[in-house]
Order: sequence, then C-alpha cells, then structure tokens
Amino acid sequence: MIDTHAHLEMTQFDGDREDVIKRAVNSDVSLIIDVGSDLKGSRTALELAHRYDFIYASAGIHPHEVKEVTPDTYKEIKKLLSDPKVVAVGEIGLDYYKDYSPYDIQKREFINQIRLAREFKKPVIVHSRDSRDDMLKILKDENASEMGGIMHCFSGDEEMAKICMNMGFYISFAGPITYPNADRLRKVVKSIPINRLLIETDCPYLAPQQVRGKRNEPAYVRHVAEKAAEIKGLSLEDVERVIRLNVHNLFGIGDVNEISRITYKIRNSLYLNITNRCTNQCYFCARTTEPWVQGYNLRLEKEPSAEDIIKEIGDPKRYDEVVFCGYGEPTLRLNIIEEVSKKVKEMGGKIRLNTNGHGNLINKRNILPELKGLVDTISVSINAEDSEKYNKICHPVFKNSTYEAVKEFIKEAKKYIHEVVVTIVDVPEVDEEKCKEIAEKELGVKFRERRYNVVG
Ligand code: SF4
Repeated sequence: MIDTHAHLEMTQFDGDREDVIKRAVNSDVSLIIDVGSDLKGSRTALELAHRYDFIYASAGIHPHEVKEVTPDTYKEIKKLLSDPKVVAVGEIGLDYYKDYSPYDIQKREFINQIRLAREFKKPVIVHSRDSRDDMLKILKDENASEMGGIMHCFSGDEEMAKICMNMGFYISFAGPITYPNADRLRKVVKSIPINRLLIETDCPYLAPQQVRGKRNEPAYVRHVAEKAAEIKGLSLEDVERVIRLNVHNLFGIGDVNEISRITYKIRNSLYLNITNRCTNQCYFCARTTEPWVQGYNLRLEKEPSAEDIIKEIGDPKRYDEVVFCGYGEPTLRLNIIEEVSKKVKEMGGKIRLNTNGHGNLINKRNILPELKGLVDTISVSINAEDSEKYNKICHPVFKNSTYEAVKEFIKEAKKYIHEVVVTIVDVPEVDEEKCKEIAEKELGVKFRERRYNVVG
C-alpha cells in the first residue's frame, strides 16, 4: 500500500508521530511521500525521509503560504531539492477558495516553482481549488508536461482530469471518494485509466468515511484503496500493484516486479499471455511500445510452451476462469490453446478465449469445431461498425475482406461455443450503438464495450 500524499511533518503528529508511522507499517503501508507545504514543513519532511527508508519527501510552498516567500526561501528549497530523497516539488498550486494569499502572488509563485521543478528535473505535486482555468493555463504555458506530476486530492470533473492526463499528470484521490454524497467524484475515479490513478490520505485531513471526524493517518489509505478497487471493479491487490507501478514510473522509487509474465491474475481470473504476435496493428495498441498491462509486464522474452503454461496455472479451480488474452492474438498458437484448454477442462476449470476473430484466416481452416468442449466463452473484438473503419483502426495483415471474415467467425462460433461476446474498444471514432446493433441483431450475440488497457 502506498500513500502518495501525507503531512506527517505537521504539528498534529508531534505527540505520536512514531506510533503513527508504526501503525502505517503494521497496516502494510510500504511507501509514503511526505509533502512539504512551507519551508519548515519541507525540512521536517526531509528529516523524516532520512530517518525512514520507506518515507520520501517533497519540498515546496503551498498557495496559502506563498505570500511569505522571499529569495532566501527559494535558496533553502533548492538545497532541499538537491537531496535524492526529495522526489518532487510540492505542494504548489492555486487556492482561490480560502484566498489566504493574493491571486497574483499565488500565480507568480506557482510559475516560479514549476520552473524550479524543471531546473531540478522533478515532478510537481499540484493543489488546485476553485482555480481550474488559471491552473490549467499556467500548467500549459509553463509546459509542465515536461516534468509531469500529480493532481493531488482531485476534485474536478472528467474533462479537467482528461486535460491534466494529456499533460502527463496522474490523478490522485483521497478520503472524499468514500463519502456517501460523493457519487460525482466516484464517477470521475471510474473514468480515469488505472495507469493514471494514484491514491493518498492527505493526512491529517480528509479522513475516509470509516474514520471520519478523526485525525487522518497513512494507515487509513487502505480505505481509499478499497473504495478505488470497488469503483474500478478490481481487487485490492490489483489496485495496489498498479499504483506501485505508477509511483515507480513517476518518481523512480519503490519496487516493481519487472519479470515478464506468462500468467497474470486480475480479480479472480487467471490470464494467459501466450504470444506477443498479432495479425492486427490497432493504432491504439501499445503492444510494441509499452509492456505494462494492469501493472504486469507482458513483454515475452520467448513464447511459452504448453507445459510451462500448465505448470504456472496449477489448479484452475482456484480461479473463476482461465483466459487466453495477453498482448497478442492467441489463435496464432492454436495447438497451445487446445493443449492447455484440454488440461484445464480435465481439471475442472473454465476457459475463455479473447481473440481478434482471425483464427480461421490464420489457420486456413474452420478452427471452431476443434474448440468445442474446450472453450466455454469466446470474446471477439470487432472494433468497428464497417470494413472501411475496421481497416483504418486495426490495419489487419489480411487486408480488405477481414472485417467480413471476423463476422463469419462470430456466426460460426455460435454453433460450437456456449457463450459468444462481441467487444469494441472505446475509441472515439467507433459508433458504439451501431456495433451493438450488429452484435445483437445481425450476429445474435452479446455485446460489451471495453476500455483500452482495461483487461478483464
Ligand atoms: S488485436 Fe489486440 S493485440 Fe492485436 S493489435 Fe489490436 S489491440 Fe493489439
């Protein structure tokens, strides 16, 4: 568990700081970023970071405090930023809600601190309250995407989150996502791709619902993580793994498991990554550039044998289903699908095959009778409402007749496979309604929209 934004340096923890840190460790919190809000706090944050391996610090001046800033303040902040345990500039930003510093000073010092982040090549941790337009303008004008960072304790809408993500920012949520009246905010959490999501406590403030009214502390980050998992339809373990990777990618800290995966678990399904080859080249597919999916490295060093896969699966009854998926088209290795599925079925497991529907073109025969009794569910990406669009999006190696061949594959699948589902990825040019109609009315199968990079 990682708390990406705590204020253990604040006086609220003076009486029992060590105990609070012990409780965090006992609650499986393995990394904390302690965020400075003024010079004194930034110094204390770094002292804590020096005392505890798993605590890192940031240094910066909060918009409430910027009216006190002098050139000497920056001299000191620069000294702190030279320390390797200071991983970011923050928290900085604009707060027009409380209005403790005049707006023009807030803007000026926000800009100055973004420039400091560029000088020290560190990301920024941004606080923004009732200041959306000015904040976005400054981030854009100052080219903050060069350093990236975190929109901390995000309270904006989906559109604002999108703009920030396009500038390379991660969106971080705190206790408010657990509050009963926070449906709007939970909708925003749902819309954030998991590889851009972070969680935090912002302690001592904003205690989650379970401990609302109490002083917040890093041990309670679990409540935020559990809520994020519930909203995303993932397990707590999934959320933790992806956040660990996100923190590693942004700050270069923490451990991630970089070993390439043949099998990987999401929720209680086990996914099989049997090839990285594909007969499509969908423009949105990061297969060749980005090996990570849901916090797992899916770049295969070599394609696994059936024996390797069966060994890794172990007892398939431990999982809701075993899914051929991964970063490539499984039917390129039909013999492996057949051998592994046979074994899984013998052991009482359930099989789903996620495919681009090219199996008959690839294998130059109707493969569906061979899958009868081996595959319980087949999920075929159709990805467009007509052939022209399909070719533009997917760039299939089989050229012009592929879309019609995929539809034929789906019709044929209905004869042999118990459950057939058509999927699309939520890219803007695809007409979801038309695809749904094709799936349900023309092909007579179920329909599901998927978000790209959301496996499962
Ligand atoms: S079909 Fe899947 S694996 Fe193949 S290119 Fe498209 S998104 Fe990537």
